[in-house]
Amino acid sequence: MDLTFTDEENAFRQEVRDFFRENLPKEISDAVKNGGELTKEHMERYHAILNEKGWLASTWPEEYGGPGWTPVQRHIFDEESCRAYAPRIVPFGLNMLGPVLQKFGTQEQKDYYLPRILNGDDWWCQGDSEPGAGSDLASLKTRAVRDGDHYVINGQKTWTKLGQHADWIFCLCRTDPDVKQQEGISFILVDLKTPGIEMRPIKLIEGGHEVNEVFFTDVRVPVENLVGKENQGWTIAKYLLTHERTGIAGVGASMQSLEEVKALARKTMRSGKPLIEDPLFAARIAQVEVDLEAMKITNLRMLFKAQKQGAPGAETSILKIKGTVINQELKDLARRALGPSAAPFPGHITDGNLALAPASEANNAARYFNNRKTSIFGGSNEIQRNILSKAVLEL
Ligand SMILES: Cc1cc2nc3c(=O)[nH]c(=O)nc-3n(C[C@H](O)[C@H](O)[C@H](O)COP(=O)(O)OP(=O)(O)OC[C@H]3O[C@@H](n4cnc5c(N)ncnc54)[C@H](O)[C@@H]3O)c2cc1C
Repeated sequence: MDLTFTDEENAFRQEVRDFFRENLPKEISDAVKNGGELTKEHMERYHAILNEKGWLASTWPEEYGGPGWTPVQRHIFDEESCRAYAPRIVPFGLNMLGPVLQKFGTQEQKDYYLPRILNGDDWWCQGDSEPGAGSDLASLKTRAVRDGDHYVINGQKTWTKLGQHADWIFCLCRTDPDVKQQEGISFILVDLKTPGIEMRPIKLIEGGHEVNEVFFTDVRVPVENLVGKENQGWTIAKYLLTHERTGIAGVGASMQSLEEVKALARKTMRSGKPLIEDPLFAARIAQVEVDLEAMKITNLRMLFKAQKQGAPGAETSILKIKGTVINQELKDLARRALGPSAAPFPGHITDGNLALAPASEANNAARYFNNRKTSIFGGSNEIQRNILSKAVLEL
């Protein structure tokens, strides 16, 4: 595989770089740089800017409004968007439900929902996990019982990311309790305005409101909101999860974090010398940089494979594991380089004389704590290792 970028690819990189310089509002890039919570308005504005350019649904085929990029172009876009401190795309509609509808949806579902995802008319969230069903997702208990032209849903979902902004949730529900667990699940689209739904916030360790619990009591959903066939939900969920995991490697974000860590280590003095000259610290930076280079190549290799096969394979678990381990190591190095300036929750005490560091540095402890999530969500790293051992190594 030739890893040198062609002239066309380099020209594309320049086009993306220019685009971000000219179109990304400073207010949004500052919010990303400072590591605070992005508002719904920030995220919707960013999506609209990309959509106007035709770059929003980077993984969709052209027939549905995708830009028709090669894997290398997607990789370049990811690198450049992180370099410009652009937000990550909110993935639920674009990278999860979109591919699912394109493969399993009816023509009516495609015609109705796909343009609405692109135009930002509907904000989607993901209703997979439940209090007793995370790693063991197939044991989920939320019930959908057929009643004439409707399903009646009862149960609870949890860890529903950004559900507080959402209009719709795609849910895995049990439609047949009498068969093998995996064979009695369906994939159903639920309008969050339907009576009987309650959303409650969960606070994360750094104090942010990112996830929620969702309670369903006798929620009536039209049967046309079923995606695929009844009891085909597990197949759909597995397809969705491989898409979820491809983006999860976060190569561009880690490249940006690596540059930040190096800059911090150059300017931070320890024992009269820049921290970057400390052999132990320098060795950790070197190790994570080597790992990141290897992951970049693995990521490209898998993007090529996904383009040929139409969907990424179980190997995306490698990206999930390596991507999150690298990202967490970089957040740890930044926190250690900053020392007291990265004290827990300084974002809460930066007014007046209590300011400890510029906003871009003061949120580092919060970012470190928040990023513990990455080795848990999208299927924990232990579960990814189980998948690799079975599906790839055939152990
Ligand atoms: C910030 C955040 C956002 C999330 N967003 C969403 C969302 O939007 N929608 C959604 O549906 N879900 C979401 N999740 C849920 C996420 O997918 C689950 O947390 C994850 O699948 C783990 O499930 P669990 O939390 O129930 O942990 P458990 O499954 O209870 O696991 C607990 C621990 O045991 C380990 N473990 C469990 N089983 C095994 C095994 N067989 N072998 C080895 N180790 C094992 C796990 O790795 C973990 O360390 C989110 C989670 C977080 C933290």
